[in-house]
Amino acid sequence: MDIKTLINRLRVRIEDDYSEYSETYSENIFEIIDNYINNDKYSDLEKAFYLILNQYPSDMKNYFVKPNEMVLIPDVYDMGSPGIEYEVDFAIYGGVLNNPVKIAIECDGIRSHRQKHSNKDRKKDVNFQAAGWIVIRFGSNEIHEELAKHENQENYTSDFLQYIENVINETSQIITWRSYAKADFRSRLTGYKWGYILCPLCGKSQMGELNHIKHACRHCGEKFKREVLSSENVKYQHNGILYFD
Ligand SMILES: [Zn+2]
Repeated sequence: MDIKTLINRLRVRIEDDYSEYSETYSENIFEIIDNYINNDKYSDLEKAFYLILNQYPSDMKNYFVKPNEMVLIPDVYDMGSPGIEYEVDFAIYGGVLNNPVKIAIECDGIRSHRQKHSNKDRKKDVNFQAAGWIVIRFGSNEIHEELAKHENQENYTSDFLQYIENVINETSQIITWRSYAKADFRSRLTGYKWGYILCPLCGKSQMGELNHIKHACRHCGEKFKREVLSSENVKYQHNGILYFD
């Protein structure tokens, strides 16, 4: 497939995705995207890659993409300097403001003027990492492979987007129904210690507050007393509630 055809197809898909999955996006986003893909400054490879990063509306994926983002960060090689300005090929911002996820995607070798991983690039990576950025470098081979998958399968969703989502979830620990189902999240939210409890009557396990001994089984409906193990480190018991170390 001709790369221009692929670019057009990816562009149409973004509009379809946004109108199908989101009610809150602004039309402005298409203007931003079109300004990028109509700019001769960028190569066709960059344009196609940018469109892939923009798949799905931002209220579905917890991040957004900013191409050619300028940032001002400390220069760890010269802390006497007020900082150093860098341009990021694609900055991805996600998570929450007091625990943000900042990913710098650098595409090596897709702009003719750029050298392969130089000493300067390595210094840039160190400065970014020191400033809390995750740096991901893509070689042109990887980008070509990625584009080939999108050529062969019309509704292909990049694995890479899933990795970004996983990084954001691991770093920012966004609270959702899904995370509430995890014992450690629910413990921090509710103050109880949540864990798995086995019903001695039906033998099925379920998540429950370990602070209580008496439980009603969610499966068989019977009331039961749970077994408290010595390994649970109960500090003391007060008014029927167990407190742990
Ligand atoms: Zn049961």
